[in-house]
This record gives sequence, structure tokens and C-alpha cells, in this order.
Amino acid sequence: MTSISGKTTTDWAAFAAELAPVEVISEPVLVKKRSRDFFWYSPILDRRLKTCFGDLVARPKFPAEMARCLTLSARHRIPTTLRGGGTGNYGQSVPMEGGLIIDTTEMGRILEIGPDFVRVEAGCNILTLNNALKEKGRELPVFPSTQDIATIGGFISGGSAGIGTVSHGMLRDAGNVLEIKALSAEDPPREHVFRGDDINMIHHAWGINGVITELTLRTVPTEDWIGCIATFDTYPACYAAGMALAASPICRKLCSTLDARIVAYFDRLKGIAPEGRPMLVTLIPRPQIDDFRALIADHNGQIALEMDEAERLTRKLPHAFEFSYNHTTLQALKTDRKVTYLQILCPAPLNVAKITELQGVLGDDVYMHHEFSLMGGQRVAFDLPLVKYTTDERLYQIMALYEAHGCPASDPHSCIIEEGGMKKADYRHLAWKKRMDPLGLLNTPKTREWARVRDMTPEAILALHQT
Ligand SMILES: Cc1cc2nc3c(=O)[nH]c(=O)nc-3n(C[C@H](O)[C@H](O)[C@H](O)COP(=O)(O)OP(=O)(O)OC[C@H]3O[C@@H](n4cnc5c(N)ncnc54)[C@H](O)[C@@H]3O)c2cc1C
Repeated sequence: MTSISGKTTTDWAAFAAELAPVEVISEPVLVKKRSRDFFWYSPILDRRLKTCFGDLVARPKFPAEMARCLTLSARHRIPTTLRGGGTGNYGQSVPMEGGLIIDTTEMGRILEIGPDFVRVEAGCNILTLNNALKEKGRELPVFPSTQDIATIGGFISGGSAGIGTVSHGMLRDAGNVLEIKALSAEDPPREHVFRGDDINMIHHAWGINGVITELTLRTVPTEDWIGCIATFDTYPACYAAGMALAASPICRKLCSTLDARIVAYFDRLKGIAPEGRPMLVTLIPRPQIDDFRALIADHNGQIALEMDEAERLTRKLPHAFEFSYNHTTLQALKTDRKVTYLQILCPAPLNVAKITELQGVLGDDVYMHHEFSLMGGQRVAFDLPLVKYTTDERLYQIMALYEAHGCPASDPHSCIIEEGGMKKADYRHLAWKKRMDPLGLLNTPKTREWARVRDMTPEAILALHQT
């Protein structure tokens, strides 16, 4: 069996046989399909990653099978990339050096639902998990808008925030993730349990420093959520209402505001959201709907939709949260392949004047979209603007404009972890990589700094963090 990636010399048929009884996929079309995620949101990543493929997919069903995959990939020095639902949008799960893809989706058992926590295998689909929690009156505090496809392990490894962040904070904020069990990529693998501050050493590390097998997560009471849409005369007015809702005692699970030109892309809202008006999208607990209506009226907004789950199903409408976070970009890309997006932080304290100021300097090619959020206890907003793509230079110029106006950008057009939100190497992550992946097999091309530290001890790497 030849190398699908064209980058490895392994005898893949022999390796697949050695993996038995672990199920494998070797059909090139299917391997190539499972080598992709949503990197094509970015024209830059699309050029860089569209020809990167793995060579073989393994689908372990039990912890012992996962350990077998890692033992053999370590023994044969095979580059290994973990994959959950494949919904990451920076190419996090794209194997850049070929090799083995480990698909976790067969390892998705819910192990324990406690009064305020859940213990679950990493490959569990998030919708399945939320449905099981709902039966017990609970739900995840934070989940991504991709819950129908994404795995909980992929979210904790690749994601950072989502539906619920406006109330419950970022994934990294204390108390949301309680414990992470992970295996090292060694022959044989060792298990390590991350707790307390160490959780952030493997959370959002893109699977470069250990293979998450099990997670214990906080849960919160579920609600009878009403998906609501309100529209406004201007974007600053819409943003002001978003700020007020995020700061109010209403227990909203989502608070997003969208420029009218983004709303124009939403075919499913034609006839619901009036044209030419910016839109606020939220999820409100049924008992607080009157408070929400009053808040919108105070901000001169008009309510365009209030739908509970039964109505949503009857009208065959998407969830309200499918008009938020990165689903916004997806909805736009369905009709316009020339759009892309950015990720910008509006730091605390939020103010409407900043939006007007930015509108004055950003061009007509930038359509604002804010996700009101709680981060480390502070009220911030993430702007995920749609951008009418023209050139790479223009994209970076827009990021520079935001930065010049006090709003830091995280580059979503890079698949290198040090070039994204982090902007610099996190040597604590790299020290853990050295401990959990001493051979540098796990998704290593995604870290630029590994080449510098690969021959150092974890302690020496950690010392770089302290200097
Ligand atoms: C339309 C759209 C909307 C999105 N909305 C959100 C959002 O609301 N919030 C948000 O944070 N993100 C969002 N994202 C990004 C992405 O969907 C989430 O991060 C998602 O939860 C990833 O889960 P996944 O199972 O698809 O992971 P994958 O894409 O399969 O993997 C993500 C990363 O995790 C690693 N990984 C997977 N499983 C493991 C494991 N068991 N151990 C170690 N590493 C592992 C992979 O190697 C990869 O680096 C969105 C993306 C799209 C395309």
C-alpha cells in the first residue's frame, strides 16, 4: 500500500495489519476526507493545507485499542494526528506530515452523570452529551455551535468559547473543565491526569501534547430556552443592546450582534428578520422572556423571532445559535465563497463609542459581528467580522487597524499555534509536550517552537517560560 500523503515511507498495509483488532480505514478517498477540517474558511489556509493528507485512519473503540494505536505509532515513529468531528477551522486536525489519523468518534461513552458534573470519553458527540444531560435537568455550561458534529475532546483540545460563554466564561476559566485524562505517545503510553491549573496545559493545545481519553466537566441547570432575534436601526444601537443584555441579570446563554450585511446572507431568515437591519441573537430562559422584551424595547429594538424548541422543529428552522459564532461565516460562505473572517478581542470596559470609532476606520469590506463574553470575570466581546476577501495583504492590514485601535487580533489564517491567539510560544505547553510526546509525533508541525526545544528536558523548556 503506497503512501497517500506522499510524505511517508511506512509499509501501511503491514502497519494496518499490526494494528488489528483496531478498525482502520485505508481507502484513499475516505482517508483524504478525514484529513480535512474547516480550514477552507481561510483562503490562506486553503492554499497551504488542501494538499495535506494522512495515510491511514484508525478508529479505536476502547482505551486498550487507543493505547495500541499510540504504542505502534511510537514504535514505528509515525506522525499521528487526533481527530474528533473535524470541525476545527484552523486546520488543527489536518496531518501536515502524513501518517496516522486517530479518529476518536468510536470512543464516546458517557461514564457518569453526577449532580453537577459529567465524566465522559473524549470522542463523545456534544449533542449526544447535551441530550443525555438534559434528561437529568442539566447541560454543558459552554458548547460550540457545531455541537451536532463536534466531539467533546475536540472542543476542549481545539476550541475556546461558545454558547454559554456570556454567562459561564471561557473553557479555560476555572471550574468549567474539572479533570482531563490523557495518554502519552510512547511505547507503552502512560496515563496522566490533569487537574487544577494544569488543565490549561492540555486544553486548547490542538492535540500536540497528549491524547485526551476522558474528561470531567461541570454541568449547569438546563432551561426551556427561547431562541430570540431582535433588530435595530443601526449597528451601534444593536451593540448597545447586546452590551446591556450581557450585563443584565437575565440568564442568557448567548448574546451575539450582527451587521445587517451579514444578516443579508441568512436565507433561512428571509421573511423573519427584516432586510437592512442589524440583528441581535440570543437564548433566553422562558421565565425571563418579559424582561428580555422590556430590555429590547428600552433600546428601540424590534423583536423578529421568539421560538421554543417545539416551534423550531415545526418550522424546520436552524437553532438560534446557528446564526452565531463561526456558523455565521458558514452561512455566508454558502452563498459567497469570497468571504472570510477574523477574530478580534474588544477588551473591557466595553463601550459603544469604540464601535463607531472602528466603523470610521474599517472599510466597506468589514462587517462586524460580536459575541459578548465573560473572560476571567471581565465582560468582553469577540468580534468575528466577515471580510470580503481581496488579498492577504488587505486581511493583515485590517488586523493591524483593529490592533491600532486597541482591539488585539488572533490570526485565524495560520495553522501554527504560536501564530494564533497565543502570539508567542507557551513553553509550559511545550514542556508538557516533551513529557507526553517525547518523540514529537503528535501534530508537531503545528508548533514552530518544537524544533528549538525538542532536545531539551521538560525542566529546561519550562525555564524558558520563566525568563
Ligand atoms: C461552523 C463552525 C462553528 C464553530 N463554532 C465554534 C464555537 O462556537 N466555539 C469554538 O470554540 N469553536 C468553534 N468552532 C471550531 C470547532 O468547531 C470547535 O473547536 C469544535 O468543538 C472542535 O471539535 P471537533 O470534534 O470537531 O474537533 P477536531 O476538529 O476534530 O479537532 C480539533 C483539535 O483537537 C485535537 N483533538 C481532537 N480530539 C482529541 C483528543 N482526544 N485528544 C487530543 N487532541 C484531540 C485535534 O488534533 C485538533 O487539533 C466552529 C467551527 C465551525 C466550522
